[in-house]
Amino acid sequence: MNTPHFTLVGGGLVGSLLSIILARKGYQVDVYESRADMRKVDISAGRSINLALANRGIKPLQDLGLMDEINQLLIPMRGRMIHLDGQPSTLQAYGQSEQDVIYSISRAQLNSFLMTKAEQTGRVNFHFEHRVTAIDFDQNILTMTHQNQQATIVDFNKVIGTDGANSPVRTAILNKGSTENEEAVLDHSYKELTILPDNNGEHKLEKHALHIWPRGEFMLIALPNLDGSFTVTLFMPNHGVTSFDSIKTDEEINNFFAHHFIDIQPLLDDLTDRYQQNPTGRLATIKCAPWHYNDQALIVGDAAHAIVPFHGQGMNCGFEDCDTIAQLVPELTTEPTDWQQYFKAITAARKVNADAIANMALENYVEMRDSVRQHEFLLKKQFSFKIQEWFPERFTPRYAMVMFEHIPYSQAFELGKKHQALLSELTDCYSCSSQLDKSMIDQLLRKYDL
Ligand SMILES: Cc1cc2nc3c(=O)[nH]c(=O)nc-3n(C[C@H](O)[C@H](O)[C@H](O)COP(=O)(O)OP(=O)(O)OC[C@H]3O[C@@H](n4cnc5c(N)ncnc54)[C@H](O)[C@@H]3O)c2cc1C
Repeated sequence: MNTPHFTLVGGGLVGSLLSIILARKGYQVDVYESRADMRKVDISAGRSINLALANRGIKPLQDLGLMDEINQLLIPMRGRMIHLDGQPSTLQAYGQSEQDVIYSISRAQLNSFLMTKAEQTGRVNFHFEHRVTAIDFDQNILTMTHQNQQATIVDFNKVIGTDGANSPVRTAILNKGSTENEEAVLDHSYKELTILPDNNGEHKLEKHALHIWPRGEFMLIALPNLDGSFTVTLFMPNHGVTSFDSIKTDEEINNFFAHHFIDIQPLLDDLTDRYQQNPTGRLATIKCAPWHYNDQALIVGDAAHAIVPFHGQGMNCGFEDCDTIAQLVPELTTEPTDWQQYFKAITAARKVNADAIANMALENYVEMRDSVRQHEFLLKKQFSFKIQEWFPERFTPRYAMVMFEHIPYSQAFELGKKHQALLSELTDCYSCSSQLDKSMIDQLLRKYDL
C-alpha cells in the first residue's frame, strides 16, 4: 500500500488517456470498464460516433508522442458550412490562419488506439465487462459486477473516476459531503443519422467542413468520417410542436425532413428506420464539487463536468484535465507523497475552467442553431477578424481562444464578455469592416481594458 497504485473506473476516452500518463510516470494502473473490449467486439463506442478534436485535446497527445499516428485518423475541418433553406451553402471559416482548424475523428478509433497504447506501457491492465456499482471509502473497496453477473470486490489504493456523466465515483464522493451538485438536463436531445459515401467511396458533401443546417429551434449537423460517410446529428426539443415527442411515425419523419431539410433528405441513408431505431440521446450539464475525497479518490472528464456538445469541447476539456494531471502529479517515488494536496490542486486548477466551458457550450447552441444565420452575428464575426488582424496581441475572437489556444477557459469566457460589449457598440454604428478606423478601435480596446 506504500506504493501508490491507481484504479480507474471507466476506460473511455479520458480513462484510456489518463492511464497512459500515469503509467509513463511509473505507476501501475488497473482500469475497470463496464463495456466489452471495443477492439474485439463490434459495439458502438457510445454516444457520438465521431467528434471534433481541437488544440486543447491535442496537447497531451502530442506530449506523449502519439500525434504522428493519430494524424492518420483525422479529417481537418476548416469552418462551418452553413446550409440555409433554399440558399447556396456558405463556408464560415473558423479563423484567419491555416492552422485554425479542428479535426473530425472516430470515437471508437481514438478510444481503441489509446487503449492499445496504454497496454503497450506494460503497466496498464484493462478489465472489461466490469461494472462498478459501489465504492466504500472506509474499507477502500470497489464492488462490481462481472459480465452482468456475480459481484466482485476489489481493493483500491487511489481510485479515479473516469466513468462519464453517470459516474458512481462522483456519487460516492458527493455522498461524503457535497458543496455543489447540479445536474441540468437540457430540454433538447439528439439523434444520429448517416450519409453513406458515394459509389466511389467519396464524401457526398464538402469533406473539410462541419456542416450545419440551422433552423432556429433545432438543427442538423454533419461531421465527416474517413470511410467517406458523414455522421449527421439532429438536435431538437424534447417536447412541443417540432420535437422528438411530436415526430415519431414514418410519415411524420418524412414530412419533417421534406419541410425543413429538403436538400439533405435524399442523402440520408435509410432515414425513417435509422430515426426510429437509433436512440435519442439526452444532454446535460453537470457541475459538482468537490472533485476529490481525501487522498483516496478523484474524478475527471465527464464524471466531474459533463457539458452539452455544442462547443465540441467535452473530450477536449477532459483531455486538458489529463494534461493538468501530467503537469502536477509527480513520477513514482519512494518518498511519501501528499496525494490530497495533489488532488486539491488538480480540482482547483480545473473546476473553474470546466464551469466556464459548460456555460460557453450552452451559449454556443443558440449560436449554431440560430445566430449563424443572423446578419448581426456575421457582422460581429467580420469585425472580430478585422480587429484581430490589426491587434493580434490584444484581441483573439472567443471561438478561437476556446478552439485554437490554450488560454484557460475561464479567461476566454471573461474576455468574451468584453468582446461582446465592444462588438455590440460597433454593430450599433457600422455596417461593414471597411468603415472601421484603426485608431478608433485602439481606443475602444482601451476602453474595455483589452
Ligand atoms: C452528441 C455528442 C457529441 C459530442 N461531440 C464532441 C466533440 O465534437 N468534441 C468533444 O471534445 N467532445 C464531444 N462530446 C463530448 C464527449 O463525448 C465527452 O466529453 C467524452 O466522451 C468524455 O469522455 P469520458 O472518458 O470522461 O467519459 P465517457 O466517454 O462517457 O467514458 C466513460 C467510460 O466509463 C465507462 N463506465 C461508465 N460507468 C461505469 C461503471 N459503473 N463501471 C465501469 N465503467 C463505467 C463507460 O462505459 C465509458 O467507457 C460529444 C458528446 C455528445 C453526446
